[in-house]
Amino acid sequence: MTKPILLSTPHMGDRELEFVLEAFDTNWIAPVGPHIDAFEQEFCQVTGAGYAAAVSSGTAALHLALRLIGVESGDEVFCSTLTFAATANPITYLGAKPVFIDSDRTSWNMNPDLLREALDKHAHIGKLPKAVVVVHLYGQSADINPIVEACHQYEVPLIEDAAESLGATYKGRSPGTFGRIGIFSFNGNKIITTSGGGMLVSDDAQLVAKARFLATQARDPAPHYQHSEIGYNYRLSNVLAGIGRGQLRVLNERVTARRHNYEIYACALGNLPGIEFMPEATFGYATRWLTCLTIDPKAFGADREQVRLALALEQIETRPVWKPLHLQPVFAECCECIGGEVAEDLFARGLCLPSGSNLTTEDLDRVIQAIAAISSDTRKIYF
Ligand SMILES: *Cc1c(COP(=O)(O)O)cnc(C)c1O
Repeated sequence: MTKPILLSTPHMGDRELEFVLEAFDTNWIAPVGPHIDAFEQEFCQVTGAGYAAAVSSGTAALHLALRLIGVESGDEVFCSTLTFAATANPITYLGAKPVFIDSDRTSWNMNPDLLREALDKHAHIGKLPKAVVVVHLYGQSADINPIVEACHQYEVPLIEDAAESLGATYKGRSPGTFGRIGIFSFNGNKIITTSGGGMLVSDDAQLVAKARFLATQARDPAPHYQHSEIGYNYRLSNVLAGIGRGQLRVLNERVTARRHNYEIYACALGNLPGIEFMPEATFGYATRWLTCLTIDPKAFGADREQVRLALALEQIETRPVWKPLHLQPVFAECCECIGGEVAEDLFARGLCLPSGSNLTTEDLDRVIQAIAAISSDTRKIYF
């Protein structure tokens, strides 16, 4: 039987098990312990973040971030539209409403000009959002400087969803470290994983201390259980933090491997008519967490969905680019989108290819051959 080639799977290094065994040997199995502290510190060293709190998921980190900023029922929060639902869901947990913002074509991330226009307009009617959530998609940073400037001008706090972009840079610095708060994810499909987990970072020590407090049921400093605020059970376990420490040590290798996948794909398929790869913006270094391309059906001879289904028959898993949140049934009725055509087009034509750091040359070859076989002009393939 043909081996399935999946989109993005976990890839352990040499040290993870050692750290996990250490947790077992010392009986630190709880959501406290030395691996958690070490993981947070090492994460700060790798990303240049000031302070970090390890939590149970990227979604939990976003929920905490919005809560720390004071997002409440009735507030509006500006949010990238081209992203996974987990970016916007926590806005609604707090009773607030997302207002979506379209992407630009240079990075596929939030268009800074549209953000500025939207802030101008909302300032004019006295209805500024409580926060802006910008996403760094598929391993590439958004054009963050103008976004930071626009938020700064209107004193609107910026949260960065860098769940997909650990290991990337923007002008040499890690996405997630520019705004008031940044979040990362260690879900099983991300560039490094703890099976499930996340990180909240900020340069504000007090804010991160408050995040830890809220993530551990908001217990007041009293010997009995006393609570003056509503908390959550969002802390990462010490066992999983051990996996994270091992994974951090191979992050650079994982980035290299994923960029290598992209280069192989782009070299073999980049000249096919109708195929264009996600551009790498000049301001940054992308990890190519996923290799994404767009397909022009007329020139290529098949549309994105036909390609996806043809590859599925060959046991090759691909995914359409994120369906924009303003098109999602759960948000379409309630939530406005500023622009939207770019994200809609990227969704209609965009496909993510298998991109794991553990793919073999044979795996990549199979994907390339399968796509080439669909193209109306296979002569353009060369290796
Ligand atoms: C994965 C992801 C999240 C959520 O992270 P979890 O750890 O799965 O909760 C949030 N935003 C984006 C853009 C993601 O890709």
